[in-house]
Amino acid sequence: MTSRLPKLVAFDLDYTLWDLWIDTHVTPPLKRDGQKINSIHDRHGEEVAFYHDVPEILHRLRAAGVVVAACSRTSTPKLARQALSLLLVPPQAGDKHGTPKPAIEFFDHLEIYPGSKIPHFQSLHKKTGIPYSEMLFFDDERRNNEVESLGVTFWLVQQGTDDRTFEKGLAEWRKRHPVEVAEDASGTAAASTE
Ligand SMILES: [Mg+2]
Repeated sequence: MTSRLPKLVAFDLDYTLWDLWIDTHVTPPLKRDGQKINSIHDRHGEEVAFYHDVPEILHRLRAAGVVVAACSRTSTPKLARQALSLLLVPPQAGDKHGTPKPAIEFFDHLEIYPGSKIPHFQSLHKKTGIPYSEMLFFDDERRNNEVESLGVTFWLVQQGTDDRTFEKGLAEWRKRHPVEVAEDASGTAAASTE
């Protein structure tokens, strides 16, 4: 049961998926060099790129059918969306026939607007019908753990999202939401995550 995943995984953007504040460190227009993978630049040559492990994590969630969301409180939502549209995610490791895809295609939902992130998650819940107990959120700012009041599992990202951080967040979610094993009338054990 160690591979159990929540139904929805959400990521903050700044210092969670990339190492800058899109509203203060980046000046439009954003540009990509041809089909260059995981690298775009702003007017002054500042690079926007996902942290190393992020592309494979996105592939893994996609392959598992997990709903993926970006939840950011940036004051420049349009620029953040542009960056996600331009950034190219390489094919999954070992996939020789795959082609790079814009990062935005890996996100089912974008909740990008300033303010407390509680409305971001209320909106996700409304759009998807997924219970908060099935949501795991990665973010580098501790203040955003207020979404736990809804029942979302919050995991603090300290040096960008990497495999280790991702696994730790998953482990925390599993710990909080253990599988309940119920016995039916025939005595057969049935596992349920609800
Ligand atoms: Mg952040």
